[in-house]
Amino acid sequence: MLVELKNTTRKLCVIGDPVLHSKSPLIHNTMLAALGLDYVYLCQPVPAGETAAWLTAAKQAGYAGFNATMPHKEALVPLMDDLDPDARLYGAVNTVCLREGRAIGYNTDGLGFLRALADAGVRPEGKQVVLLGAGGAAKAVALKLSQQGAGRVWVCNRTAEKAEALCAQDPAGRLVPAGFDPDTLRRLCREADLLVNSTSLGMAGGGGQFGDLGFLDALPPEAAVFDVIYHPAETALLARARAGGHTARNGLGMLLYQAVYALERFTGTAIDAAAMAEKVAPLLAEP
Ligand code: NDP
Repeated sequence: MLVELKNTTRKLCVIGDPVLHSKSPLIHNTMLAALGLDYVYLCQPVPAGETAAWLTAAKQAGYAGFNATMPHKEALVPLMDDLDPDARLYGAVNTVCLREGRAIGYNTDGLGFLRALADAGVRPEGKQVVLLGAGGAAKAVALKLSQQGAGRVWVCNRTAEKAEALCAQDPAGRLVPAGFDPDTLRRLCREADLLVNSTSLGMAGGGGQFGDLGFLDALPPEAAVFDVIYHPAETALLARARAGGHTARNGLGMLLYQAVYALERFTGTAIDAAAMAEKVAPLLAEP
């Protein structure tokens, strides 16, 4: 997209490795143009181990802030002058604001997920949740659900130790580690109000596929199904959930809303999240 640059234009970017595939520049530059804000949002490859060097460079180069993806989210935590409660809770930073030489770390992933959930009419309070996965995305989803008063969140992961480690981080004690085998998933699904896939299974470009999605048939009819994956727009899991009559949503809402909340922090501007998500979503639609 074309971005008008002025001498006063302030710089933002996303760092990561790999990062050149990132949709963040498209999302943020579209929002900035729509809001008439004098910023530009770039894409900056930064290899693992270079997080601290990048932070120094960004301050010197006058960046207003940046987003971070793999492999920098955890590495940023000890480098921050201040952390928002969610970044502290998750032990991961996805948004850094640079103000007067200070770096303030935020994490907007959990908030983005929560807002996407609300759009689908799902409130977490008291809900029984089956969460598939225990990686970075799962951590924000699980801890946000617990913080919002979910009844119980079963964290079902292939590697049991990672599920146990994630659950041990929950101050409210609502997260319960569980297995990833078909029998366990089927048993837990019978009691679930909400199922969230936060594994990479089903992701385009080699994320692997679920061998058996039969556990979805055990969900009560009113249970909602979320997939944090947004590419493809409809994973096999979502297709089967929809065919079973469930409310089913992909990860696009989470992606867009976490970006809106990040931009609010970068610019100090309150943004109409729903209107902005509506504006940006068509740009991300698959051909
Ligand atoms: P991580 O690498 O941190 O975690 C991957 C998870 O997937 C782990 O729980 C891993 O289990 C599980 N997994 C991977 N392969 C298999 C397999 N063959 N069988 C069973 N489980 C498997 O990745 P992220 O959490 O960062 O990302 C996960 C997905 O979420 C990606 O598709 C990413 O694009 C998406 N995402 C979406 C966001 C959004 O805004 N919508 C935000 C962030 C991520 P194990 O621990 O056993 O390895």
